[in-house]
Amino acid sequence: MSFIVAIDGPAGTGKGTITSLISKELGLVNIDTGVTYRCVALYAIRNNIKLEETQKIINSLKNIHIEMKNENGEQKVFLNNEEVTKEIRNKEVTKIVSQVSSIKEVRYKMVELQRKLAQGKDVIMEGRDITTVVFPNANVKIYMDADEKIRAQRRHKEMQEKGIQMTYEEVLKNIQIRDKNDKEKEIGALKIAEDAIYIDTTGLSIEEVKDKILNIIKESRLGTVPNRKQDREK
Ligand code: C5P
Repeated sequence: MSFIVAIDGPAGTGKGTITSLISKELGLVNIDTGVTYRCVALYAIRNNIKLEETQKIINSLKNIHIEMKNENGEQKVFLNNEEVTKEIRNKEVTKIVSQVSSIKEVRYKMVELQRKLAQGKDVIMEGRDITTVVFPNANVKIYMDADEKIRAQRRHKEMQEKGIQMTYEEVLKNIQIRDKNDKEKEIGALKIAEDAIYIDTTGLSIEEVKDKILNIIKESRLGTVPNRKQDREK
């Protein structure tokens, strides 16, 4: 049986960095589910399909083939056999991806794909609805959070490093819009699962967050479950 670590949380909480580090350390397959929605958004842009043309986006799903390959510990993303790892992070995709991912037919198809990608493997998977919809019975369930300004700073720095042109204000605005949309989705909305462990990363370094999660995984393998949402609220 496979071992599943599910991590949810809004953009800029460090989910991507942390899951990548932990996957290397523990030998888990790293699956970033946001890329699946980003591929659908990129396909729509490339084919001049507008956001309002929901039915066209739904129809295009049958022509979208997404693959993920791990090369030297890095996750590479392929859309219809073409590598799009970098392109799916661009400004245009980032602007529309949340709305594209709100279409329920898109979600059904992507959730199915995400489950298939994890089949028979030990994985660490991150997204918005992994702990609630994709793998509600995951071995470890974590919700990562942080102050929105800190998240925008982190995301802005990351984008600069990748050579993506967006101002801090644009990044903050985009995060605010995406957060709102992600939390209000009819299906697969971003929320804290009752039995998820909540981690606020605002004042923590990457190392500190990584160690916290490594400990949680270790404890889960030993059969103890610390710091759940209901304990936090006591
Ligand atoms: O994680 P990332 O920022 O790349 O995700 C892009 C968008 O995809 C998110 O803003 C969210 O709208 C959507 N998403 C989702 N469910 C997931 C992962 C991402 O709806 N499991």
